[in-house]
Amino acid sequence: MKRRDVLGAALAGLAPFDPWGRAWAADVAAVTLSGGSTTLKDADIRDFAKGLSGNVVLQGDAGYDEARQIWNAMFDKRPALIARCASTADVARAVQFARGYDLLLAVRGGGHNIAGLSTCDGGMVIDLSLLRGAKIDRAGRVARVAGGSLLADLDDAAVPQGLVTTAGVVSYTGAGGLTLGGGIGRLQRTHGLTIDNVLGVEIVTADGKVLRANKDENQDLHWAVRGGGGNFGVVTEFQYRLHPFDGKVTTFSIGFDPSDAKNLLANYFEYGASAPDWVYVSAAMSTGQDGKSNLRVSGVLIGTPDQREAAVAAVRKLGSPTSDRVNVVDYLAVQKSADVSSRFGNYHYSKAGFFGETTKDTIDALVDFFNANPMPGGNMSLLTMGGAVGRVAPDATAYPNRAATQNIDVGGGSSDRAAADKLMAWGRAYWKAIVDHTAGGGFYVNQMMEEGERRVADNFGGNYQRLKAIKAKYDPGNQFRLNANIKPT
Ligand SMILES: Cc1cc2nc3c(=O)[nH]c(=O)nc-3n(C[C@H](O)[C@H](O)[C@H](O)COP(=O)(O)OP(=O)(O)OC[C@H]3O[C@@H](n4cnc5c(N)ncnc54)[C@H](O)[C@@H]3O)c2cc1C
Repeated sequence: MKRRDVLGAALAGLAPFDPWGRAWAADVAAVTLSGGSTTLKDADIRDFAKGLSGNVVLQGDAGYDEARQIWNAMFDKRPALIARCASTADVARAVQFARGYDLLLAVRGGGHNIAGLSTCDGGMVIDLSLLRGAKIDRAGRVARVAGGSLLADLDDAAVPQGLVTTAGVVSYTGAGGLTLGGGIGRLQRTHGLTIDNVLGVEIVTADGKVLRANKDENQDLHWAVRGGGGNFGVVTEFQYRLHPFDGKVTTFSIGFDPSDAKNLLANYFEYGASAPDWVYVSAAMSTGQDGKSNLRVSGVLIGTPDQREAAVAAVRKLGSPTSDRVNVVDYLAVQKSADVSSRFGNYHYSKAGFFGETTKDTIDALVDFFNANPMPGGNMSLLTMGGAVGRVAPDATAYPNRAATQNIDVGGGSSDRAAADKLMAWGRAYWKAIVDHTAGGGFYVNQMMEEGERRVADNFGGNYQRLKAIKAKYDPGNQFRLNANIKPT
């Protein structure tokens, strides 16, 4: 109903029905997939909203600003319409609504995408935050997890039942985005990436159909969603394989003298190349707000007490420790330990990629830039890959980077925009200084920033043509494009 019609109805003594409690109703200007303009008819929006078990949030509604917020404050976008879907049927309805108007479409799981790909200006956001929950089949060791769930939903349901699978390191990251891109986490070297434990998905494709993809049904889609990101539709349920787990891990954080960084990193790379599977280990150089730099090797261990002790001893030997913290703790507490420092609403910039072979030149590039350009709040972190992740063939799933030895990430975040801009400039300059050393390694799609089409294609490597063909089959109009986008053939 147009504003003047509402006024007319009010003057005639007929109060218009407005499920949102707005003073008036109106058509809504929106943006199409190709960047053109369209107008969403008020009657269509009402009809769409009436059929949802979730709800619709428009500009001007109470809660709009909260609903449009994502983790990285660098992206302050204003969608025309946010469809908060509470069921698979809602998602199918929302996909069809977007398709009917050819709307620019973003899909929001946990909202953690660093490059802001789960929102958009003027388009529609399918928000899955009402579609949460995990059911555990203890005997069958399977978790069924709704597509908008956070990692804590999975961990908190599975671990008390003596079961676990690989999930990321911050508990309120979305299971959706994390899983579809790969899923790096503290148990990856033992149990593989999160995708290596995906038994199947329920997915709404671009035509609004609900499909299942697993080893028996739609096998092409099952292959593609394991690493191909959100290109193929909206996943409304994941089924994960679970592994027996006693819920306890050993954490360690060993400090070293930053002036010994080159020697330390040489030893760290060597250790990472042959570390046992039960060792999750990372090294980081950072600079505090006081300008003091920090060098640390930290991680999480499973395995027997002897295996854990041996691993800590090996890490201590990487250099001359200046501080030493080792604890046996609940895995669930560790999974939530970075939640506060990684909170929503900071301005964040980071660049990331994989190293293949590392040499003395790699180490020189890493340390020389860091030392020559001290940046308060700046961080360089390395994570040892390999183990079970590296034993899967690069074409067994869509995730191609199986040979990576280390994941490297540079940048930082701040609640202050000006400070964040400095960190962004620093991160970009740091990346420029080291990018040649990552050339063979590619990057993790869930950490991409401003990669561009060519780099995305190159990164998928030998899997790219197969992904393009599957994209053409399930999303020929490229409706799902706000992701590490694969153009249909
Ligand atoms: C603080 C922080 C910690 C992180 N830690 C880790 C980590 O430990 N391991 C790791 O691997 N990654 C990690 N990441 C990266 C993370 O995997 C990505 O940011 C991922 O995109 C987050 O998923 P999400 O659902 O929260 O993201 P969103 O921003 O909601 O979505 C990201 C992308 O996934 C798509 N998507 C999301 N859900 C669905 C769905 N159900 N169906 C179809 N498409 C969907 C979206 O369209 C979008 O393209 C971290 C990121 C942050 C900010």
